Amino acid sequence: MNLLDGKLISSQIKEEIADAVSEMKKSGKKVPHLAAMIVGTEGASETYVAHKVKACGQVGFESTLVRMDAGVSEEALLAKIEEINNNDDIDGLIVQLPLPSHISEEKVVAAISYKKDVDGFHPINVGRLFIDQPCYVSATPNGIVELIKRYNIETSGKHCVVLGRSNIVGKPMALLMARKGYPGDATVTVCHSRTKDIKAVCRTADILIVAMGRSEFVTADMVKEGAVVIDVGITRVKSEKTKSGWKLLGDVKYDEVAPKCSYITPVPGGVGPMTIVSLLNNTLKAARKELYD
Ligand code: NAP
Repeated sequence: MNLLDGKLISSQIKEEIADAVSEMKKSGKKVPHLAAMIVGTEGASETYVAHKVKACGQVGFESTLVRMDAGVSEEALLAKIEEINNNDDIDGLIVQLPLPSHISEEKVVAAISYKKDVDGFHPINVGRLFIDQPCYVSATPNGIVELIKRYNIETSGKHCVVLGRSNIVGKPMALLMARKGYPGDATVTVCHSRTKDIKAVCRTADILIVAMGRSEFVTADMVKEGAVVIDVGITRVKSEKTKSGWKLLGDVKYDEVAPKCSYITPVPGGVGPMTIVSLLNNTLKAARKELYD
């Protein structure tokens, strides 16, 4: 069994990005600038945004954290997004989801300029991914593809089973694995809560990508010998063994599944760090205007 070490690979990629930023500075260009908006003070969102802002600092990006009160009106939030869209100094804009229920996430995502949509959630970027045109790709599936590339994992002709069909992970993941070229050219099956005999489907997977949010759902009897298993799931559960009183569990029962795998991601330290570097990579692309003018 080999570990798909997202922590290690992400630190290598951060060094590459930091080098690129140094080059930009040397040639007199402005450094990439990410704006992150957070509405309210929900615990997990605070942590995710803090990680993103910290990562910007580590690679030499500028970042701006825009905090808005949980009671902010949709109109005021949309106006702030418009202001950032028109600010030439800011290259990328993300709005941390979920939002309070009185605000339409759909409207907010659509209001972000697709040229600054480094989360890859805007309908234009999603549509361009569908027809295989250059676009910002959602950070988590993009990070997984990068991990597959860095470990030279063969994907052509393989059966890839994706558990989960969310807009930000499952669906884009399936598209990326099915597209022409490497990594891709896989035969893809997408499973969800209505899939019949999910265990039998999983057992046919050469590559199993799990994004369900159901801790330790995938057990050893669901995994083919030699499979590649990528665990996206993160569930925080109480633990008496840790100082914090919490621990993170993936969607895969790691201890029993790992011995059967050719490659597997750990949780934490697998997909999570790759998600953050994908966001940084998208912001670098935005600053360089690689995709759009
Ligand atoms: P989501 O929007 O809740 O989607 C979950 C998907 O799993 C849905 O398609 C759902 O099916 C399916 N599902 C749930 N229970 C199932 C069951 N018992 N059998 C079959 N299918 C089932 O979740 P998400 O946003 O994609 O996130 C998934 C997990 O990844 C979460 O733990 C999240 O925290 C984690 N995550 C991690 C990162 C990272 O950076 N590591 C990034 C994003 C998300 P239906 O569509 O039929 O309801």
